[in-house]
Amino acid sequence: MHISVEDLKNMPGETLTYTFTAAAEQLDLTDEEVEFLEPLTVELLATYSNGKINVEGSLHSKVALGCSRCLRTFVFPLAETFADEVQAGDMATLDIDDWVREAYFIGLPLKPLCHEACKGLCPRCGSDMNEKQCDCLIDEVDHRLSVLKKLLEEK
Ligand SMILES: [Zn+2]
Ligand SMILES: [Zn+2]
Repeated sequence: MHISVEDLKNMPGETLTYTFTAAAEQLDLTDEEVEFLEPLTVELLATYSNGKINVEGSLHSKVALGCSRCLRTFVFPLAETFADEVQAGDMATLDIDDWVREAYFIGLPLKPLCHEACKGLCPRCGSDMNEKQCDCLIDEVDHRLSVLKKLLEEK
């Protein structure tokens, strides 16, 4: 993905708008844990003035991620923005891939959650606690209570 610096230089102070779409592979964004459900869309605003190019962009896509708590796959709407300013120098084109890649990594959650309140899997029996509450947790609480009771009795 790149824009013509000449075009911008011909219109100093004017903001030009661009839209790009690219497959994740084109940007080397292949990741085993991320499945792209649609191509990346980038909207970019670029302005040339006083030897500098100002860029403002936004990145959109839809990806399938695995929930870090319950391991279920869910659709995550990826949306992130970026902004920067670079010296135009004598370059003919400006490559925006690095900004897009950076925005992608910032936009991706470190700990993906299918929803904020996801209860995750039971650490003991592995059942999905969003679907049903297994007995394990109750056991554990009871166990802790009985230990506490014992401690109190011993005093
Ligand atoms: Zn989940
Ligand atoms: Zn359980």
